[in-house]
Amino acid sequence: MRIVWILALAVIVSAGCARQMEPVQIGAPAVEKRKVMDGTKVVKSEAEWRKELGPEKYHVLREKGTERPFTGELDHAFDPGSYRCAGCGEELFTSEAKYDSGCGWPAFFDPADAEAIDEETDTTYGMVRTEVLCSNCGGHLGHLFPDGPRPTGTRYCINSAALTFSSSEA
Ligand code: FE
Repeated sequence: MRIVWILALAVIVSAGCARQMEPVQIGAPAVEKRKVMDGTKVVKSEAEWRKELGPEKYHVLREKGTERPFTGELDHAFDPGSYRCAGCGEELFTSEAKYDSGCGWPAFFDPADAEAIDEETDTTYGMVRTEVLCSNCGGHLGHLFPDGPRPTGTRYCINSAALTFSSSEA
């Protein structure tokens, strides 16, 4: 019986030593919180977007909504300056490429920088269209059509609510 107790004690002591031999991670976080990345640079929760944008801009930018034609305040704005994403502030278009297409929404024949715009195929409403999104925040901007003026022949049909205008005039 005594030998059993000695063996049991040896097992307990060796187990304790083994535990002490385990490497100790100093400063390692207990739980690491990670943001879910969706391929875009600016990632916010829907609650954050809703609070920051307000109902109209949220509907257009985050729910792929479309404002009623001829209602956007930038539809007939042609002062010199730049048009930025209303979601993240990234420059998307300039006044140099803006023209009056008569379609009811701000129209541009070229983006400020090709990298600023993402394109995706949109098959909603029984149509096949090219959706245009801000590459920085993933916000929906509008659609792209092949009926623009020269030199590109492209029409970026963009919701006014998805843009903010910064005048370049002093
Ligand atoms: Fe953006």
